[in-house]
Amino acid sequence: MSNLYLKNVFNKIDEASELLKLQPWVANELKSFERVLELRLRIGKKHFTAFRIRHVNPYPTGRNPYKGGIRFDAESGGDVDTLKALATEMTLKCAMVGPDEERRIPFGGAKGGIAINARDFSSDEIRAIVEKFVDEIGDNIGPTIDVPAPDFGTNEEIMRIICTRYSKFHPHPGAGAVVTGKPLSRAGGGCPGRKEATGLGILYVYRALKKMGVVRGEKNNRVVLQGFGNVGSHFAIHAPEFGMKIVGVADLEGSIFNKNGIDVKKLYEYKNIHKTIKGFSGAEEIKFEDLIKKDHEIDAPCAKENSVTKKWAADTTAKIILEGANSPSTPEADQIFKKNKIIVVPDILANAGGVTVSYFEWQQDIAGAQYDKATVFKQLNRYMVNGAGGVIKTAKEFKVDLRTAAYIWSIKYLNDALTAKHGW
Ligand code: NAD
Repeated sequence: MSNLYLKNVFNKIDEASELLKLQPWVANELKSFERVLELRLRIGKKHFTAFRIRHVNPYPTGRNPYKGGIRFDAESGGDVDTLKALATEMTLKCAMVGPDEERRIPFGGAKGGIAINARDFSSDEIRAIVEKFVDEIGDNIGPTIDVPAPDFGTNEEIMRIICTRYSKFHPHPGAGAVVTGKPLSRAGGGCPGRKEATGLGILYVYRALKKMGVVRGEKNNRVVLQGFGNVGSHFAIHAPEFGMKIVGVADLEGSIFNKNGIDVKKLYEYKNIHKTIKGFSGAEEIKFEDLIKKDHEIDAPCAKENSVTKKWAADTTAKIILEGANSPSTPEADQIFKKNKIIVVPDILANAGGVTVSYFEWQQDIAGAQYDKATVFKQLNRYMVNGAGGVIKTAKEFKVDLRTAAYIWSIKYLNDALTAKHGW
């Protein structure tokens, strides 16, 4: 298998299954896929490729759906193995966090992508592509079948388009639950706190680990952040409430640094207007390879898979890596972190806040309810703390690092659930 990301995920599944001494069918099931759908989206003379992948659902589909983001990216959005890896991680994330040890997020894992870079298209063209996607995918998505959400390159407005198009042909109560991450504003039907959920969830996990003594809390932890999109920007905006100071931000167009801390709210406004962090007056421009060598305590890779290279791992001064993106660390980087006793808080735990609040949004739509932000954040914290607690307990029991522990914690639950579902 040539895809590094999928290979890493499968290797971790094998390792965790062996440590748990599970029967071979478990790892086999977790390394295969329920459905891989490839679609051609024809718009006039042009066409675009889209995929939707269902991994494993330990619940009855039709009652509890598959769940996972849909990404726009010319590279990974059309790369079936990367999407398979992302779908697999979704199953693991749903089995990671929950209201208590017995219960987790009741979804299977899925992922989808369209092989385009959104910045290359007008908003009308994007609308046409997304509507065509909904038409072509038909009843392969639905509130109890498979529920997409935003991911790399997509946002709440894309979710609005999916919801509007789907509801037109499925005019039933609860049809809005076909997709989560919808906007709150202008009657978007979203859930308060969904936009912030993934970034904030990382911080809730960090706080829980600090309380459990797993990470040391300096008074002003300095952070270098990569990716100022949905996950990264909301992480950064809330980071000061958790005793952190963002000193460096790297985005697609470049990196910036301010040793006294970047005013992230101003940077957020600046990026909304200029669509880039370049030229922001509250920090100096810097090359990423120099940024990572500046004194700081935390790295928060929140951009894309495989972005944390061997060089990054060797050069960074950070002592903690908070993986906001999916699978940002390459295995070589992971080895260096281990050797240098740098704590890595793995993606499938750290960024599970997104699917957690997506679950609340789904509940809200099914019930025709409207939640408030304070309740959503309280419940989000509860789910993340339970997940973090389970992972730490597992790490101690099996004497393994947090990534391996996260896989074990989640796969143990999936083994029990799948055994019961299949009656084996
Ligand atoms: P996004 O498209 O909103 O933001 C991605 C950001 O990364 C952009 O600002 C982009 O400029 C930047 N970026 C891209 N390539 C880069 C590079 N090579 N170097 C530096 N910056 C780069 O996407 P997002 O929704 O924030 O997702 C980011 C990551 O988090 C992805 O791995 C995604 O799968 C994962 N994730 C997202 C969610 C969610 O709720 N959106 C939930 C869980 C995990």
